[in-house]
Amino acid sequence: MSKLKNRTALVTGGSRGIGAAIVMRLAEEGANVAINYTSPGSFEKANALKEKVEKEFHIQAIVVKANVGVKEEVDQMIDQVEKELGSVEILVNNAGIAPFEPFLSLSEKTWDDTYQTNVKSIFLTTQRAAKKMIENKYGKVINITSTASVLVTSPVIPHYISSKAAASHLTKALAIELGKYNINVNAVGPSTVATDMCDEYLADPQILAKEIEANPMKRLGTEKQIGDSVVFLASDEAVQINGHLLMVDGGLTVKAAQPEDHMNHEQEVTL
Ligand code: NAP
Repeated sequence: MSKLKNRTALVTGGSRGIGAAIVMRLAEEGANVAINYTSPGSFEKANALKEKVEKEFHIQAIVVKANVGVKEEVDQMIDQVEKELGSVEILVNNAGIAPFEPFLSLSEKTWDDTYQTNVKSIFLTTQRAAKKMIENKYGKVINITSTASVLVTSPVIPHYISSKAAASHLTKALAIELGKYNINVNAVGPSTVATDMCDEYLADPQILAKEIEANPMKRLGTEKQIGDSVVFLASDEAVQINGHLLMVDGGLTVKAAQPEDHMNHEQEVTL
């Protein structure tokens, strides 16, 4: 598989969860990948992933530390990627946080941290990476937003949900702003995926069962499915797709909520 051969990609929050699966798929398609992390505890994971993709897919990978909500760190990170791998051609804004704090006791710090990581980061990374993308007249920016961008999903965490709506709308504005330079800006909206972000929430077997039941496909999403959709949006096959929010949610966001789901019955099919 070589849809992205020799392209240079940067994946924020790439050491674990959905980000790690995106790194795997981009590398599998031949891209050289910069794996961003910020927590000291993720350094080893990022390095192990670097070694794995280099060995398995014969591409070049590097590990880059930065808090994506801080301009100086973002600038340094992209400087390093440009120096070691070349201009960023595929930027995947995946890093995100979802602190589970109820609205009435939510602190101002949690509100600010959430917006800094989930929204401001997209401004900082995209503005910096766009300089070379514009010079090269080529770029793909893919933001990992959420079903929460368009619906109030469970659990109700207003700071997270509203930040993802902002990230999705920012995607559209940037698509218009940057399209003329042959830069595609799109978003991917996952439904629930069992990563560290959701481990406490999904640890309750009743909640897990309800999550599965609520999804029209009767299953959770997977990290790899998100990686696959990122590959598609980064590929030439998606060259005219710009400003789109690609839901990878099993149809969750098109399903009307009903107190007793009248659509949920077994169909007798006669062939
Ligand atoms: P996760 O397992 O909790 O991983 C979060 C990632 O974000 C980690 O790699 C973390 O890096 C990184 N990160 C957090 N703050 C950062 C910062 N300030 N600077 C740089 N990196 C930072 O979460 P996930 O489920 O893989 O989520 C990935 C993305 O998908 C997020 O944007 C999330 O909102 C979105 N999403 C997830 C789900 C889901 O159900 N899991 C559903 C919809 C959307 P460190 O390891 O270095 O801390």
